Amino acid sequence: MKSEYKVSVIVPCYNEESNIIPLFNSVSEYTKELNTEIIFIDDGSNDKTFKNIKTLAAQHKNVKFISFSRNFGHQNALKAGYDTAEGDCVISMDADMQHPPELIPEMINLWQKGYKIVSTKRMKDKSLGFLKRLTSNLFYKILNLFSEFKVDSGAADFRLLDKQAVDELKKINEKFLFFRGLIPWLGFSQIQLEYIAAERLSGKTKYSFSKMLHFASNGITSFSVKPLKISVYLGFVIALIAFLYILYAVYIAVFTDKAIAGWTSTIISVLFIGGIQLIMIGILGNYLGKLFMENKNRPNYIIKEKND
Ligand code: UDP
Ligand code: MG
Repeated sequence: MKSEYKVSVIVPCYNEESNIIPLFNSVSEYTKELNTEIIFIDDGSNDKTFKNIKTLAAQHKNVKFISFSRNFGHQNALKAGYDTAEGDCVISMDADMQHPPELIPEMINLWQKGYKIVSTKRMKDKSLGFLKRLTSNLFYKILNLFSEFKVDSGAADFRLLDKQAVDELKKINEKFLFFRGLIPWLGFSQIQLEYIAAERLSGKTKYSFSKMLHFASNGITSFSVKPLKISVYLGFVIALIAFLYILYAVYIAVFTDKAIAGWTSTIISVLFIGGIQLIMIGILGNYLGKLFMENKNRPNYIIKEKND
């Protein structure tokens, strides 16, 4: 591989102090003959992550860093990386070595063959932990049920994007970013590589269960208005049932003499309709909240310090 072109590698890091150097070494190993910049985005870490990145940057001039004023989240850290990267292609990967750097040469190879987007898919892997696999599969099932753009289960934020795709991505100024959904939406010629996720090198996952739930609901409501449509369908179904019940009630009242015994059915219908309404108001509220936040037009992240 010759290096007339430049490759950017962007790495979001949140409390990854002991992973920075191994990752840098490994990426450097696999991009030896290339003109590469490695951009670490410190997402408001409160351990030695940023210190280690700075030390590395002092030693290697191809290391760039961005440090956020606080934790803005993985997706916003990725955005900062895309916004800053200058390469002809940009590779994003996690800091914890779960995304194997040995895939980089193959990604670049495919890019040179003309693919604008090389995404990756985590292969089924027993070592991943039952709960993680279950929640991840469930998330993609639900997401694809609602969304117009299919996102592969096991899709990872480990991908190569051509500069052209990055430039399009930069134009997107959504507050609730979900790159795994945005990438298929972008179009271009895409190809997918499979990889086996390694164990996290050190530290623990930054995606707690509640963060994952948040991520999942974001993924769905940022990509689809189908949940809103459900309320219309459900409304119709319930209205129909109510109408039939009214007919029945009228029949009982007019043609029989047992009209008073209606307490149970009243309670059930009130509770049922109340429940449905609450769910639907919740869904509406979710979208409304998003509009509210988008409308504020706040930046996705705030940079405290950067080099270069
Ligand atoms: N990350 C981040 N900000 C966050 C959470 C995570 O920049 O608020 C980074 C993290 O340092 C890692 C990547 O995003 O490089 C993926 O996170 P993690 O490995 O914890 O997720 P998992 O692999 O468990 O899904
Ligand atoms: Mg990880």
